[in-house]
Amino acid sequence: MNPRRISKRFLQSTSSLSFFSFLLSAFWPSAAAQSCGSQGVAAQVLGSGGPELQDKRASSSYLVWKNGQALVLVDAGGGSALRFGESGAQMSQLDVLLFTHYHVDHSGDFPALIKSSWFEDRKRPLPIYGPAGNDFMPSTTEFVYDFFGEKHAAYRYLSELLMPAEEGSYKMQPHNVVAGSTPVAAFRSGDLAVYAVRVVHGQVPALAWRVEVGGKFIVFSGDTNGDSPGLAQLALNADLFIAHNAVPEGVVGIERRLHMPPSVIGQIAENAHVKNLVLSHRMLRTLGKEDQTQSEIKKRYSGPVEFANDLDCFPVK
Ligand SMILES: [Zn+2]
Repeated sequence: MNPRRISKRFLQSTSSLSFFSFLLSAFWPSAAAQSCGSQGVAAQVLGSGGPELQDKRASSSYLVWKNGQALVLVDAGGGSALRFGESGAQMSQLDVLLFTHYHVDHSGDFPALIKSSWFEDRKRPLPIYGPAGNDFMPSTTEFVYDFFGEKHAAYRYLSELLMPAEEGSYKMQPHNVVAGSTPVAAFRSGDLAVYAVRVVHGQVPALAWRVEVGGKFIVFSGDTNGDSPGLAQLALNADLFIAHNAVPEGVVGIERRLHMPPSVIGQIAENAHVKNLVLSHRMLRTLGKEDQTQSEIKKRYSGPVEFANDLDCFPVK
């Protein structure tokens, strides 16, 4: 449920419109900040778009909330740092940061989030998990050190956030996850556990993530063409499956080698018996084709389907 939708309904049912408009303008930012995941578990979409800025959406990024705490951040695409602030989350709340892969639309705002965290009172380390690298893309440790390492990094002036010997800050702890087509456990803290499988996204090393918290399962496909058998396994019985709607049905060539069309999303959701499906990573080539997309998915998957917008909140019941 999008807080904006709640506010609209609320306003429509109110006769003293101007008075409540005043109240909302005075208090709404903090009210919205508290509205996702304040009770129980919820996933919030920080960025529902792809790399094109003309989609007027932030690029890929998601939060998992539990009882008012933002515990997990999945990806940090361009624009997501602003949405992170708008969500009311704080970097000091995060137990873990997960990356699906290192395309710009999944990682471009990472340094902005880390810089913001410097102003917060975080003491404990920040674990960061993502794929191992290849000749084409950096590993997770390389990616983090390329920004914040002490010698040649772009933002080496912030190396105290990474280098263990430097005092004055909490530390990032990057880890490379070597995953195959069977889910592998990457991180656990209290009742939070995260699992990954390798997914196919051209020649880019890429992971899908499963976040288990409070007895709920939320699965993030990341970018993939859907060829990996591990994705349906990872998504098995998920309460919420957030899949990327980056290409329309019938697409061929490089776009199909990188992304899964709606029919493939629907088949994976059905095979995995997911309880709710949310479509994100909406691009100019899929925006406006929601009816076609939904119909292709419904041929294969009988559960509920929703299209994500920035800051949408999906409580997991
Ligand atoms: Zn992408």
